[in-house]
Amino acid sequence: MVRFTVLASGSRGNSTIVCGGQTRILVDAGLSCRELFRRMRLAGEDPGKLDAIIVTHEHQDHVNGLAVTARKLGIPVYFTEATHRAWMRWLSPRRRMTYAQWLEQCRQQNAARRAEMQTIADEPEAEAEDSLADSENGSQPDGPGAELRADGSAETLSAGAPQGPREKGKDPAWLPSIEYFHSGEPFAIGDISVCPFTISHDAADPVGFVFAAEGVRMALVTDLGYISPNVKLQLKGADLLLLESNHDLDMLRDGPYPWAVKQRVLSRVGHLSNEAAADFLESAYDGNATYIVLGHLSENNNLPELARISAERALSGRASLLANRLLLALQHEPLASILF
Ligand SMILES: [Zn+2]
Ligand SMILES: [Zn+2]
Repeated sequence: MVRFTVLASGSRGNSTIVCGGQTRILVDAGLSCRELFRRMRLAGEDPGKLDAIIVTHEHQDHVNGLAVTARKLGIPVYFTEATHRAWMRWLSPRRRMTYAQWLEQCRQQNAARRAEMQTIADEPEAEAEDSLADSENGSQPDGPGAELRADGSAETLSAGAPQGPREKGKDPAWLPSIEYFHSGEPFAIGDISVCPFTISHDAADPVGFVFAAEGVRMALVTDLGYISPNVKLQLKGADLLLLESNHDLDMLRDGPYPWAVKQRVLSRVGHLSNEAAADFLESAYDGNATYIVLGHLSENNNLPELARISAERALSGRASLLANRLLLALQHEPLASILF
């Protein structure tokens, strides 16, 4: 029997189980191992029966529980080499901060320093104290020193990091077994054939997948700025399509994110909006899928009903698609297994 179970979907963690023949694959491990196991049991999946983990890209919401889960189960992890390297860099304490967090830290440090400078300008008697503070911080607010400072403090954190060969128990990036695949080159994991394809997203080597088993094709594509012609091609003939419907454009534009983050989400390497997903369903989608699952909904910039209405409207425009079942993958609980 073929089974597709979304354990979690959204910017706080993504994970799906694909089962076919005798093989079970965990696609991304974006929740802690403990939470993944809890959700697997909720969904009637036995963690002990997983054969492999496969990773779409190295963003935290896709790899949070990866190392612990792979180690606990003793199963191989499938990556592209670039994704594996990026993941290792992320895991080493020196780089534990995300770029967005680092920017935010620099911004806060600069704002605090400007406020401090302002206070000093208002109170000349505090000057001696300030020059001490300045020499401790060691650089100008907006100069290249900001980067050095962020790097320097991260370096302190990495002082205890393991050097030498990667060893179990010492190295946070140690995995029981690593298998590399290449985007565009299909391969098999047990009874499931896997076709990885490149998507447009701000990660090292991000991919979507088409899994096939027992004659059933399941496509999984989230975290993409737009649907390229090749992605459209890959999604043809899918019996199940898990498609990103990340944000509502108006909610994102009017929402709480800083402008730079909004720009990133909207960019060609960001995330797919409800509108873009609907546009695909209305125009390029072949209508083959029995199930369309909308996923990776933003908690801040979307509402499940908006995503659903947008997709329903797109599908209702085409009478031939009325048989398609539309589901929403959620962040906080597993979606009931889809069976074929
Ligand atoms: Zn993501
Ligand atoms: Zn991502």
